[in-house]
Amino acid sequence: MVSTACGGSAPIENTSRVNLLGLPEAKLVEYFASIGEKRFRATQVLKWIHQLGAETFDDMTNISKDLRAKLNQCAEIRPPEVIQQLDSADGTRKFLIRVSGGSVVETVFIPEGERGTLCVSSQVGCSLDCSFCATGKQGFDRDLTPAEIIGQVWLAAKSFGQFEPGGRRRITNVVMMGMGEPLLNFDPVVDAMNLMMDDNAYGISKRRVTLSTSGVVPALDRLSQYTDACLAISLHAPNDALRNELVPINKKYPIAMLLDSAKRYIEALPDTHRRITIEYTLIDQVNDRPWHAKELAELLRDVPVKINLIPFNPFKLSDYRRVSNNALRRFQDILMQEGYITTVRTTRGEDIEAACGQLAGSVKDITRRSERYRTRADHDAVQTVKIVSS
Ligand code: SAH
Ligand code: SF4
Repeated sequence: MVSTACGGSAPIENTSRVNLLGLPEAKLVEYFASIGEKRFRATQVLKWIHQLGAETFDDMTNISKDLRAKLNQCAEIRPPEVIQQLDSADGTRKFLIRVSGGSVVETVFIPEGERGTLCVSSQVGCSLDCSFCATGKQGFDRDLTPAEIIGQVWLAAKSFGQFEPGGRRRITNVVMMGMGEPLLNFDPVVDAMNLMMDDNAYGISKRRVTLSTSGVVPALDRLSQYTDACLAISLHAPNDALRNELVPINKKYPIAMLLDSAKRYIEALPDTHRRITIEYTLIDQVNDRPWHAKELAELLRDVPVKINLIPFNPFKLSDYRRVSNNALRRFQDILMQEGYITTVRTTRGEDIEAACGQLAGSVKDITRRSERYRTRADHDAVQTVKIVSS
């Protein structure tokens, strides 16, 4: 929290002006109170920014000139910058978004009939290094701010003309499944998700906003105090030995602990019919065998779940292969016979590298992990050449 020129205090980014784009309603009300303004002004400004896409305070015609002048002096509406937009043959659109400091994150929009899902990033890179994920291989730079997270929704809505009078709402669902681990950037992610669901902002139903986590249990334990969005758990393995290999954070928070925490989250929600989505990325010969499916069915027996199978999407620096169609069908059949709702996520936007796990952006890696992976890949490439030529 930093004091501003106008006497208020609020989280800021880089400049001394407060970026109102990232403030959820309660914080905006607090900010307006701190500059001597009434709470209804905060609601007006919120609607201008998130329902009408206003970029400047001068656009806000139902606000007095004096207040506009004051806001111009001490606040701003500063979205991150779209540097490239890629459109896939299947309608998927990928945005490359530059955030302050120069790194680039990716946001993906996936249309499916009337539904339009926006896949939003929460961090620049990711520190968790799951073995099958391109983002993990990029290493980690920093957390995104609330304005940079909700800014992805704002920019996408703007690109679809959603803010125009009579503009059709294209973004009906949001999944926090882009780059980064949302629960390692807790407060900004919660602020941004609450803006997505706020009727004075985007008004997306809580059943259509999903946080996906690889299992940061202490943060998951706190989540229900701050939001009631849907929850997806990236499980990918039916036992700890295999999950330790695929999702290293499992060594710290093993499966039983994670599922207990997820159950508590669901039980704390006011409506009773919610289920946890279990995400399971199927990798050829690694976790796609019939016995894995049977073990998974056993493991989830007492947990209210639906299962989403994701065929592994290959990327450079990974030796894993996509599950075969036969193995995928067999895996799904076993789970369905065991009584689980089991869907398969169709791969979308592959021609623009927008599929799950292919998002890499451009990360100034402070962990130097990406360098290690590149060196290892170069080393492997040299070995391969040697083998081929000998
Ligand atoms: N960090 C969070 C959210 C981002 S990852 C998490 O792990 O849940 C979003 C989803 O994409 C996760 O289920 C993740 O396991 C999956 N994923 C990552 N790499 C993938 C790949 N190469 N192919 C298919 N799915 C992948
Ligand atoms: Fe991070 Fe999720 Fe990728 Fe794992 S799967 S490295 S937690 S983004």
